[in-house]
Amino acid sequence: MAECYICGKKDISKNEVGLTKKLIGRNSKKFYCISCLAEQLEVTTEELKDKIEEFKNEGCKLFE
Ligand SMILES: [Zn+2]
Repeated sequence: MAECYICGKKDISKNEVGLTKKLIGRNSKKFYCISCLAEQLEVTTEELKDKIEEFKNEGCKLFE
């Protein structure tokens, strides 16, 4: 599976990969764990977790 481009965290979750695709770009070859993604986007991990819930509620298949 994917690993975080910044901190090298291995086996980042499907939700983290999904968030990268949604927020950075569907064709991104780089993936980020939730804490590095929060840093990149200058938001909190809590906000990102809310986002995950939102996308899930929309029925987005990138999330579980
Ligand atoms: Zn990371």
